Amino acid sequence: MAKQLVVGNWKLHGSIGQIKSVLGEIAQAKLQSNVGVCVPFPYLMLAKQLLHNTHVQCGAQDLSQYHIGAYTGEVSSGMLADIGCEMVIVGHSERRRLFGETTEQAGVKMRAALDAGLFGIYCVGESAEQRREGRAEEVVAAQLQVLQQLPIGLYAVAYEPSWAVGSGMVASSEQISPMHALIKSQLDERVKVLYGGSVKSNNAESILGVKHVDGVLVGGAALSAFEFVEICKAAR
Ligand code: PEP
Repeated sequence: MAKQLVVGNWKLHGSIGQIKSVLGEIAQAKLQSNVGVCVPFPYLMLAKQLLHNTHVQCGAQDLSQYHIGAYTGEVSSGMLADIGCEMVIVGHSERRRLFGETTEQAGVKMRAALDAGLFGIYCVGESAEQRREGRAEEVVAAQLQVLQQLPIGLYAVAYEPSWAVGSGMVASSEQISPMHALIKSQLDERVKVLYGGSVKSNNAESILGVKHVDGVLVGGAALSAFEFVEICKAAR
């Protein structure tokens, strides 16, 4: 089985029909690699059924920082674990940028996820402006602070420069490799570090070949079974 991890993020996309068709095809592909798909909450149980008997894991795209109580609209880590969800994305740039999620909140969510036995995928990354100002490393280092006390092996970090997410612009190997090395040096060499930002079937092989890249987090291309399976096949 490939060591590199490929995770799909469906974001706010999908319907019962689309989930059945795309995940049905992914199930048929009999992937031998480390793969996860993070679908919207309402489709998680359907995704579990469709991917039953495959190596593909199911994940959520967010979770509550709270475990239980009067928090209308929230979904807890315990609920996700209860329905068989295996992983969860935390601190995605869209949650930080559009919904004001702070690094502190993302840290609490990571703790909640790991406590419930979920594998956490913690997203970090700088904006275009922060990179222009030469602050990319400083921004990512600050976002990593909340992971310091968490047990290695129970989570991965996804380096997703926000300017590369959904934009069609891919970070260069000269930008990716040193940032992944920095993340590992700040946490632990064994932490899996994924790259995310406009990964497609036609660039997956070269991105997965970059030094210190342990996998990819895929947004738009995860909505196409063909694209996603091709990306999974590029994992080593
Ligand atoms: C993402 O949603 O995490 C992502 C990287 O999106 P895209 O692949 O579309 O850039």
